[in-house]
Amino acid sequence: MTKKQRALEIIERLKKEYPDADCSLEYDQAWKLLVSVRLAAQCTDARVNVVVEKLYEKFPDVDALASATPEAIEAIVKPCGLGKSKARDINACMKIIRDEYNGQVPDDFDALLKLPGVGRKSANLIMGDVFGKPAIVTDTHCIRLVNRFGLVDGIKEPKKVEMALWKIIPPEEGNDFCHRLVLHGRDVCTARTKPYCDRCCLADVCKKVGV
Ligand code: SF4
Repeated sequence: MTKKQRALEIIERLKKEYPDADCSLEYDQAWKLLVSVRLAAQCTDARVNVVVEKLYEKFPDVDALASATPEAIEAIVKPCGLGKSKARDINACMKIIRDEYNGQVPDDFDALLKLPGVGRKSANLIMGDVFGKPAIVTDTHCIRLVNRFGLVDGIKEPKKVEMALWKIIPPEEGNDFCHRLVLHGRDVCTARTKPYCDRCCLADVCKKVGV
């Protein structure tokens, strides 16, 4: 079985296992996903979803966050960790969205990458989830799982994993595939315990590298 064949089989199995492949960060406007992805660094999505509710009570739109002081934002987002740098990035990012993009999040990968605090992972997530474009989001679950599956060989660096996956994952499948990896990584192919290979829908196609 080639890597591509293995990838296609895994994609189909995960679709059946997790029919809904939504992002677990809650948002109803593009700029809110930008805020949430920055807060999600080294924090759980569940906690981010709670913290942003408080943040938007005080700062309900791009203008309000752009005009706020980083300290006022930090006071609310502190529970997500790294409060100082996250608050600074959110404030700077919202200023650029307000001043250079007329309050709209740009639908361009390179433009997103230039925003403060936005890396490839976040830019891909926004391209995929907000704009429905091809995306590969290489978060910690994705990197762990695709190595275990045998789709990449001992690659841990996010950008290199992303580039390797672009070669074997159909572009239109990438975004949902990555969301499903998060669900599978939380429930079955876990990081902190031994993965539950005995009840895994991928047991016969996964190479179980390092397990
Ligand atoms: S078979 Fe095991 S290592 Fe492979 S995906 Fe399933 S739980 Fe993870």
